[in-house]
Amino acid sequence: MKKLLKLTVLKVSVFMLPILCLTLYSGCDMGTVPSIKVETQVANTITNTAAPEVSTHTMADASIIIARPEVPILCYHQLRDWRSSDSKTARDYIVPVNDFINQVKSLADSGYNTILPDQLYEYLAYGKALPSKPVMITFDDTRIDQYTVALPELKKHGFKGVFFVMTVSLGKPGYMSKEQVRQLADEGHTVGSHTYDHKNVKTYAGNDWEEQVAKPSRQLQAITGRPVEYFAYPFGLWNKQAIPELKKHGFKSVFQLAASRDENDPLYSVRRIIVPGTWSGNTMQRVMKNSFH
Ligand SMILES: [Zn+2]
Repeated sequence: MKKLLKLTVLKVSVFMLPILCLTLYSGCDMGTVPSIKVETQVANTITNTAAPEVSTHTMADASIIIARPEVPILCYHQLRDWRSSDSKTARDYIVPVNDFINQVKSLADSGYNTILPDQLYEYLAYGKALPSKPVMITFDDTRIDQYTVALPELKKHGFKGVFFVMTVSLGKPGYMSKEQVRQLADEGHTVGSHTYDHKNVKTYAGNDWEEQVAKPSRQLQAITGRPVEYFAYPFGLWNKQAIPELKKHGFKSVFQLAASRDENDPLYSVRRIIVPGTWSGNTMQRVMKNSFH
C-alpha cells in the first residue's frame, strides 16, 4: 500500500515536470605504436609517420566545451494515445504513438544521425568528430511503452536511444522489467540512471546519495553488465552542490532539461528539450534549431 502511494505521488510529481520545462523551458587515438618488428629498410618511414599521432588527451576547459555547437537532445516520457482523463498538462509530455512515429521518421528522412552519451562526451570533452546532423533521443522514467513503441521505431531507422531508468519502477505494471532493460543495453542503446524513485537532487541529505544514486548504479550495472556513467536529473532540477557528488559517483556526464548550463561544469548540466505530442516533425526540427546553439 505504501508502495502504491509512493508510485501515485511519483506520477503526480512527474506530471508537474512539463510545466517547468515548457515554461522555462576520439579524441585521441591512443593508437598503439606499430609493433616493433620494423625491418631496417622501413624504419625511417615508421618513425616519420608515427610521431605526429602522439596526443595528450587533455580535457577541454569549460569555456571551450560551452563554445562547441550544441547537439540537439530530445527527451520523451510516455508514448501512448491520449485518454480523455489526461489533463492538458499531462498531454504535453504524453506523445501519441503516431506522433512519435512521425517525429522519429522526420529525423531519419532529414538525414539526422543519433548519437549516444559516449560520443557526446568525447565530442564535448576532447573535440572528437561527430556524424553529420547529430541528435540524441532520450527517454526518462522507465515506462513500458519506451520498450514496446520506441524500440521498434528506433530499430526501423537504425537509431540508438538513451534510457534513464529509475530503479524503483523496474518490473512494476506499466514499466520495463530488468530483462527488457538488459536487452536495451545488449542492443547497443545506453542505459543511464534516473535515481531510485525520482527524488529531487536539490533536497538530498543523509543517506540520499547512497539510496538514490549509488545503489541504483550498482543495480543497473548488475542488470546490464556495463558501468553506469550517465545520469538524468529528476524533473531536470539540479544545483551546484549536486555536481561534485555526481562526479564522485562516477558519472562522466549528466543531463538536465532546458535551463542554462553550469559555466564551470557544462558536462554535468547538458541541455535537453521535452518533445510534446503536438509537434509535427517539422515543428520539432525547428525547435531543435532554435533551442540548441
Ligand atoms: Zn523523470
